[in-house]
Amino acid sequence: MKRIAIDMDEVMADFTKKFISLYNTDYQEAITLEDLHGKKLRELRPERAEALRNYLVDPGYFRDLEVMPDAQAVIKELSGKYEVYIATAAMHFPSSFTAKYEWLQEHFPFLDDQHFVFCGDKSVIKADYLIDDNVYQLERFTGEGILYTAPHNVHTTEYTRVNNWQEVRSYFLD
Ligand SMILES: [Mg+2]
Repeated sequence: MKRIAIDMDEVMADFTKKFISLYNTDYQEAITLEDLHGKKLRELRPERAEALRNYLVDPGYFRDLEVMPDAQAVIKELSGKYEVYIATAAMHFPSSFTAKYEWLQEHFPFLDDQHFVFCGDKSVIKADYLIDDNVYQLERFTGEGILYTAPHNVHTTEYTRVNNWQEVRSYFLD
């Protein structure tokens, strides 16, 4: 069986929806996903970089993120034909470990928790594929990188791109 490693934030979990919503509430703004095309919120509002970072230091931040549409069904299907690993870069926010683990157990109970990898640099991941929104991680990964579309990566052209989980399904299962 070939092995697929899957990133969590902005791939399995809708990280950005909650992030923008918290920000807009706290600062009475109306930032949209379109405003973030090609950049991160901390680049759009550099003067608030520290406050933005503090959202993520909150141990509960990652616990109630929405699951990306179709992620559960497609990952379940993938796990019949591939060895599925979850590879999440958690070292910037170590306080997120427990919430991320519980989130995976709640929404993806069919996955083996021995296949959860909380890592830093993903060059250490030995898999045939890595599905990730982060170009930095794909550059270091030695297998085939699949770029999952997120507002900040829309201008990247170097990788096979998937825009949603149905496209992941087509790529790996058709
Ligand atoms: Mg990510």
